[in-house]
Order: sequence, then structure tokens, then C-alpha cells
Amino acid sequence: MNLVRPVVVGAVLLLLMPLTVVSQSTGPGEQPPPLDREMLFVLGNIEYVLLHELAHVLIGDLDIPVIGPEENAADYIATATLIRADLFDESRAARAREFLHATANGLATSWDFSVNAGQEIQYWDSHSLTIQRFYQIICLIYGSNPERFAQLPARVGMPEGRATRCPGEFARAERSLRWLLENYGRKPGDPEGAGIQVEYERAPTRTSQRVADELQASGIIDNTIRRLRERFTIREPFQITFRRCGQPQAAWIPSDRQLVICYELLDNYFALGRTRSATNRQTIFDEPD
Ligand SMILES: [Zn+2]
Repeated sequence: MNLVRPVVVGAVLLLLMPLTVVSQSTGPGEQPPPLDREMLFVLGNIEYVLLHELAHVLIGDLDIPVIGPEENAADYIATATLIRADLFDESRAARAREFLHATANGLATSWDFSVNAGQEIQYWDSHSLTIQRFYQIICLIYGSNPERFAQLPARVGMPEGRATRCPGEFARAERSLRWLLENYGRKPGDPEGAGIQVEYERAPTRTSQRVADELQASGIIDNTIRRLRERFTIREPFQITFRRCGQPQAAWIPSDRQLVICYELLDNYFALGRTRSATNRQTIFDEPD
């Protein structure tokens, strides 16, 4: 298992939702069931990965113009979507915030692990460095409400000069999200759009099976798909597939119309969650705001 490859945390994937678990999923407006701390960390990171990959789907399928690296755009869309989850589903806004905090913690933990392991830093990667992605999320969270998160920059060692720019950066990200919905979103009378299937292949480990079971029971995948199809007209069907890949990654594969989430990534997040106590940065959200 390659815990040190931080890029996998934000890479591309797909999710499956077996019909057998649909009855366990929560519907629109229903409160999701409580999660233990460990599983919240894992599912939070997976939902962020899913949103990041779905952003790639939208950017490609709807031919959305992006200035700058698409990976950064996908991160900003995923982060702003979770911060402004109330735009999509008011009942899930609190859970979305917890999930985003889990993602920030996951990125910081992944970075610390890779540094401690002496891994080569992939400066050439299309994603920003994992630690930069962590600070980008922190900046947007702080910028979304500087009074509420007043202590956050100091906790993560972000200089004041950087933090002062965050409210403006969040405002721009939020404006971009609204622009995306207004210009590319589904309008009244627009067709329902193509379907999105979810398939879980056989999980290779007990841990990945457990995470997959929790994912299905949580309704995260179904609800994300439902909100996506409500807000956008998907032009061509695609599939979210959980499968064994040989490495902990996620990826949108346009030629196959598949968003693949590797079971190794689920295992990876579970292991990552257990190493959180080894560093300081990842516990920033463990304290009250
Ligand atoms: Zn990506």
C-alpha cells in the first residue's frame, strides 16, 4: 500500500452503489446516520474525491472553460461545494463541513507521512503538492467565515499576510460556483439527463469491504448523484466503479465513461486515519472552532 503517494488523495475515481443497499440510504432532506470518528474521516475523504472527480466530468462533458490547471479548478469546485453545501442540500450542510475537515486532515496526514518516509516529491505532477492542497482548503474554509475560524490560520502556521487574502479567494470561488450553476446548470424544463450507474466489484480486503458497506449505508454516493443530476443535465451516461486497481487511486476515464475508485484507496484512507495521531496539523479541527 502506497501511503506516501499524496496525489492519490485527489486523483480521479468512480463509485458504485448496489441496489441491495438502496433501502438503507437516506433520502432528500433526511438526516444521515451518525458515523464513528474513524469512519467519518474515511468517508469524508472519499466524498471529496468523488466531488473532485465529478468536477472533471462536468468540465469535460460540458466543455466548461478553465483558466489555469484543471486539477486546481476541480479542487476549488469540490471545496466550495462542501463549504456551500446549503446551496445543494440544507440538511447535509453540517455533515459536509465535517467531511471537508476530514479531507484537510487527510491531506496533511498524507503529506507528513510521505515526508517522514523520505518519498520523492513529485513537483511535476498535475496536482498541486498535497500540502499545498491542504492549505488551499484551509484558506477557503477560513475565508468563508474569518470570525468563526479566527484561530485556524495560526493553528496551521499560515502567516497573517496569507490569511488576509483568503476571504477574497473564497468570495471568488463562491462566485465561480454560482456562475457554474447559472451558466451550465439545469434549467426548469431541461431534460433529466443521462443516468449514472454505480457498481461495486468484489472488495479485496476486509477493510475495503467494510468501508464499501459503510459508503452504501451512508447514501453518500446516491445522494451525490441525485444532487448532480438535479443541478446539471448529464449528456451521456457513465458509471462509477469501485474496483481493485493495484494502487490507491481514483480517476475519471473519459474514453470508458468510467469514474474509477480503487479499493486500495479505501484501504489507504483507513490506514491514514489511524496515523493521524502521529502529527499535529491534522488535529486542527479536533478542537472546537
Ligand atoms: Zn483530478
